[in-house]
Amino acid sequence: MEEVKILNITSQLSIDVVRKDIKNMHLAVYPPTGRVRIAAPLRIDDEAVRLFAISKIAWIRKHQRNFLAQDRQPPRQFKERESHYFQGKRYLLRIVEHDAAPKVLFKTKSFIDLYVRPESTTEQRQIIINEWYRIELKKLIQPIIDKWEKQIGVTINDWQVKQMKTKWGTCNIEKKRIWVNLELAKKPLHCLEYIVVHEMIHLLERHHNDRFLSLMEKYMPQWKFYKEELNRLPVSHGEWDY
Ligand SMILES: [Zn+2]
Repeated sequence: MEEVKILNITSQLSIDVVRKDIKNMHLAVYPPTGRVRIAAPLRIDDEAVRLFAISKIAWIRKHQRNFLAQDRQPPRQFKERESHYFQGKRYLLRIVEHDAAPKVLFKTKSFIDLYVRPESTTEQRQIIINEWYRIELKKLIQPIIDKWEKQIGVTINDWQVKQMKTKWGTCNIEKKRIWVNLELAKKPLHCLEYIVVHEMIHLLERHHNDRFLSLMEKYMPQWKFYKEELNRLPVSHGEWDY
């Protein structure tokens, strides 16, 4: 067995390093989890391996994203009776062809009605649904921010909904701005609230350190359950950063 050493590159990236009698460094990312392994020549020290890994981070992330993507639900085709999620519940898509501007109607307990022109493509349908998700998600986020600004005692200057590949949310502390992943429209409301609160807590503490954890415990003691749920539900993409 080769001896593996774990090298922590960033807070989110650790790599397996093995030393071998080779001339050049070899970097590989493995499915399904996106594990990273570097085989390094015997004479190369950890610091050089670390610098090498840092120089390859974009490449590593790209491949990790690809592996995570393979794990997702099959791509949606926006066809009749296809399953789509909203606020953690599953609905069936009903396609209504009409010769007018597209729209989404959400009036029953079982269906999301997508009104489209007969010749609409999958891509156009996706855009229409995503726009609908965006509008609905925005309606949900504002009251959450209002509520937690008072509870936590922080002020958000700006917030936006974004399509992000590997993050549920981000916080720009200097600008006091929060971005929320569009995908959260599909998740239960408490999962959305958890992400918004997590990002708002960053205004009190930048890093995911003990202080951050104790603030989460203080304001949202059930946060671990929400986090677990978020990473377990359909259309979830494994462990995400935020
Ligand atoms: Zn965070």
